[in-house]
Amino acid sequence: MDGTFNENDLSRVVEADRAHIWHHLIQHKPFETNDPRIIVEGKGMRVWDQKGKEHLDAVSGGVWTVNVGYGRESICKAVYDQLMKLCYFAQSAGSIPGAIFAEKLIKKMPGMSRVYYTNSGSEANEKAFKMVRQIAHKKYGGKKTKILYRDRDYHGSTLAAMSAGGQDERNAQYGPFAPDFVRVPHCMEYRKHELDGAPDENFGEWAADQIEAVILREGPDTVGALCLEPVTAGGGVIEAPEGYWQRVQEICKKYDILLHIDEVVCGVGRTGTWFGYQQYGVKPDFVTMAKGVASGYAAIACMVTTEEVFDMFKDNADDPMNYFRDISTFGGCTAGPAAAIENMRIIEDENLLANCAAMGDRMMGNLRALMDKHKVIGDVRGKGLFLGAELVADRATKEPVNEKLAQAVVADCMAQGVIIGVTNRSVPGKNNTLCFSPALIATADDIDQITDAVDGALGRVFG
Ligand code: PMP
Repeated sequence: MDGTFNENDLSRVVEADRAHIWHHLIQHKPFETNDPRIIVEGKGMRVWDQKGKEHLDAVSGGVWTVNVGYGRESICKAVYDQLMKLCYFAQSAGSIPGAIFAEKLIKKMPGMSRVYYTNSGSEANEKAFKMVRQIAHKKYGGKKTKILYRDRDYHGSTLAAMSAGGQDERNAQYGPFAPDFVRVPHCMEYRKHELDGAPDENFGEWAADQIEAVILREGPDTVGALCLEPVTAGGGVIEAPEGYWQRVQEICKKYDILLHIDEVVCGVGRTGTWFGYQQYGVKPDFVTMAKGVASGYAAIACMVTTEEVFDMFKDNADDPMNYFRDISTFGGCTAGPAAAIENMRIIEDENLLANCAAMGDRMMGNLRALMDKHKVIGDVRGKGLFLGAELVADRATKEPVNEKLAQAVVADCMAQGVIIGVTNRSVPGKNNTLCFSPALIATADDIDQITDAVDGALGRVFG
């Protein structure tokens, strides 16, 4: 190829993509014969690919991100105006949009107080991990460095975040991992038969008690934090059972363990409230968020914590080591908070939290109806517009369907012009949970179009 490039010549774009792009999370061999998919344009709930084909996006940009939908002129304008005024300055100084967004955000998070800007979910989580480690050294003489994480949860792609990763498919072949990250069992009601001793009754409390058992095994004086997703995303769209969160909170308090809630997916509206944890009466010490903060219009992530944690880094100010010695270069890009302010305004003015809850209920109802019709659906679950349908070969044994069949359902939906996802990521080769996360602007017609497509696809793939 020569150096000339006309972005309107889409066959030329495909050629350049095939020659030079390493796409995320997929095997590239098929691109030797098939074209990679290029998404060219988006408006509202819909995107168009290089062939001009229209798709209803039921996964908000593929990974639960574009919460307010595509083509929002007011966000683009806010970003443009801010970048013209000041594009960047390192976060050792403040910025106007940074301060404004932080104040607005904290108003939505009673009990929280401080915002640390960064640019990806992985990084936001690593900031919290580093704070936990520094607190262990400052306050506990180098003990309490251990960070507990849960089977099936995911906290990011960087190595320490992966060390806190409970998804074996993602972790395989990337070890060894960072020390002092310790796994606790999952709390997935549907698969509780995989956990030794899980009871029929009060499973939520029992699952939380398993965390306590790990703390006692490791030694409470060695455990600094517990990191959990409010609703597990990539691990299979899992809401914790009744009774779980209350026990988790009690356990953290009892053993002086900081509670870190990873809201990278659930944060900023996805479950029908500003944050997922707010549905469960939890009081976290750290909350991390990324995807929905600016709906993908700019790269921004936040690590939010309490004044109590903040104060620990402020005392003893003459000690040259006694502050959070960390930076994230692009945490200083002002496009992020400028977009986030406008994103939040849209959610409020358009009443999108209520719409998310209502459309989530509708979608759950539709999925339950599909479950009556297609016995391959073993379970449907989730919260707000964050839902999953687990496909099993046999409802009695709950054996996952062959991943290729789940992928065939996704491909059939794609052929019908509806983009859905499939996940699980825990058992290699067993991705069997269809996942749905349409933008919070979804209408009843959009929801019905998505579930109708799934209905047709399941009929064709499984008969
Ligand atoms: N936490 C959760 C729960 C996530 O789902 C993800 C991304 N899928 C991350 C953290 C990492 O975010 P990022 O890809 O922005 O680093």
